Amino acid sequence: MKIDITLNRIIDDSYSIHIGELPLLEFPGKVAILTNPKVAGLHLQTLLSRLSAKEVYIITIPDGEQYKTLSHIEFILDRMFDHRLNRKSHLIAFGGGVIGDMGGFASSLYNRGIDFIQIPTTLLSQVDASVGGKTGVNNKFGKNLIGAFHQPKAVYIDPAFLSTLPAREFGAGVAEIVKMAVTFNSSFFEWLESHDLREGDNLSVAIRKAVETKARVVEEDEKEQGLRAALNYGHTFGHVIENETKYETYLHGESVAIGMVMANELACATGLMSEEEATRVKNLLARYDLPLDYPIADVEKFYQAFFLDKKSADSAITFILPNGIGGVEITDKIVPEQVKTILLGFTGKIA
Ligand code: NAD
Repeated sequence: MKIDITLNRIIDDSYSIHIGELPLLEFPGKVAILTNPKVAGLHLQTLLSRLSAKEVYIITIPDGEQYKTLSHIEFILDRMFDHRLNRKSHLIAFGGGVIGDMGGFASSLYNRGIDFIQIPTTLLSQVDASVGGKTGVNNKFGKNLIGAFHQPKAVYIDPAFLSTLPAREFGAGVAEIVKMAVTFNSSFFEWLESHDLREGDNLSVAIRKAVETKARVVEEDEKEQGLRAALNYGHTFGHVIENETKYETYLHGESVAIGMVMANELACATGLMSEEEATRVKNLLARYDLPLDYPIADVEKFYQAFFLDKKSADSAITFILPNGIGGVEITDKIVPEQVKTILLGFTGKIA
């Protein structure tokens, strides 16, 4: 006997990303704001002054990537139950990418899914993490290995929140902006080469260009069946670096910067990118004091760590390589020897 279930879904998860001064936000039901003590101390009053809701609760978790865990998701869910949120309630994720990823994941789980709003406060989360609905946490096997696709109902990007961001965090966000330009938009890359993001309203322009790029990619491939994987350029290498250094040495964007340099070297070796283009990328990253080098202690160990990445199938590693500036190639056809030769160059053992 066979019983079929036919699910002809038409789900419209479309939403808007607002860039500019945070407007007055009105909610008919309860609202919980997920944040951390640092962001709350700096900016919560601003958010509260622009919020109108039936009831507003604040849920605070400790600040740091090391708290992006399932046990802290349970903590958030417990608070949501304490506050008796219901299907008409909203969760606002107010902070950087860690808060955004966790707020999105908790709201995907609570009552099998309630609405959430992203109000990102770091450059990295404004240009990348808050857009596209990837939510989740880390575990001992690696980064973001547990999670869900859960799109926000809206994203509010107010560059004014970035006025308190430390320089290193700013640079980490620039790395993700460079990532979008190298993989998808050569004219954006050229614009970045000729504009300093620390001057005038260049930053707002760059945020808009980066978000536009990401939005088009997400529209085409929401669940990362193909094209969206290109946004992991620099991450295949970067995730290994983050794991090896226990998330203590580099910020996420910084390890992505080193990862892009490594990916570019591989792209040069396979003929996809010229040395001159790789140097232009390096020069742009260097202008924002991003790290470009990482001393690999054990090439074989580094190589084996690639297999923990979600993007890699059992036997082949998927690499995201720039195809010149403004193009991208997703390939699992790179022979191990070629990769290991590039890695060897980062050990300091060969010239
Ligand atoms: P983060 O959230 O840890 O924030 C960095 C630091 O800046 C924290 O100490 C935070 O408290 C502080 N901070 C936040 N706003 C501030 C402000 N306005 N002024 C001063 N300090 C402020 O890190 P992040 O770089 O924003 O995000 C990294 C995370 O994002 C990683 O977990 C990564 O996996 C995730 N991510 C997700 C996606 C996605 O598509 N979902 C994409 C890229 C990255």
